[in-house]
Amino acid sequence: MKHTSIFDHDLHIHSYVSMCSNDPQQNPQRILQYAEENGLRDICLTDHFWDPDIPVVDNFFVAGPWPAFARSQPLPQSDNVKFHFGCEADLDRNMVLGVTPERYDDLDLIIIATTHMHMKYMTIGKEYCSVEGRAEMYVKRLDAVLNMDLPFHKVSIAHPTCSLIAPGENFPNTDWQDHMRVLDLIPDATYRELFGKMARLGVGFELNFEPNQYTAEDLPRILRPHLIAKECGCKFYFGSDAHHPAGLDTAMARFHRMAELVGVCEEEDIFRPFD
Ligand SMILES: [Zn+2]
Ligand SMILES: [Zn+2]
Repeated sequence: MKHTSIFDHDLHIHSYVSMCSNDPQQNPQRILQYAEENGLRDICLTDHFWDPDIPVVDNFFVAGPWPAFARSQPLPQSDNVKFHFGCEADLDRNMVLGVTPERYDDLDLIIIATTHMHMKYMTIGKEYCSVEGRAEMYVKRLDAVLNMDLPFHKVSIAHPTCSLIAPGENFPNTDWQDHMRVLDLIPDATYRELFGKMARLGVGFELNFEPNQYTAEDLPRILRPHLIAKECGCKFYFGSDAHHPAGLDTAMARFHRMAELVGVCEEEDIFRPFD
């Protein structure tokens, strides 16, 4: 497909099917309307999914069996917008991915959230709860995904710098600095190894942070991994991670700010899993 703008997609969107949305207003028709109004060409529904066939330690996100998870299908389409069906998948603390190979063909995109470390018993285990332990797990979890046998052309990594990396012990009363402390502990060379591997495999790197939440002093700490990923040749995409219509309404302005900060400006910087 010929793309005339890099701001023509949003590949990480939740609907009411995700328990953390549970908002009847956040339905496929409303999401399609958002795409139409903002000139998007490709959007992807990525509700949380954990395959019930895979035993799970303790999952917040179990969405029930496939028919319940996939009840939004068929997704509404329009002349201008292609509405794809994907999922946001988790990795448990034993590095088991919550999607079985039998499901790969049913999903246009598999976004893997290696940074859902707020679910500490499920995703990291007690012994890794410190900032240092979380830094170790950040690296191990991403590396584990990149060593799997996955259809990498339609695999991406969700919100690589999100605050869920270290929400503090009293979540949701987060110590806002903690996720930055974790990211600070990972050396450039380690990021380079991980992101270089992502670039070689063609795994997408999600742009999904809120620049306005960071002070001028803190912003470089969030940008450092992004800039290294850019240097490594990673392909990026925008993800609003909207759970409610309000999240859709602010998405485009955020996409533009993130692109400017990370220096994502060319078509060749963009992850295109559907082309
Ligand atoms: Zn997520
Ligand atoms: Zn999400």
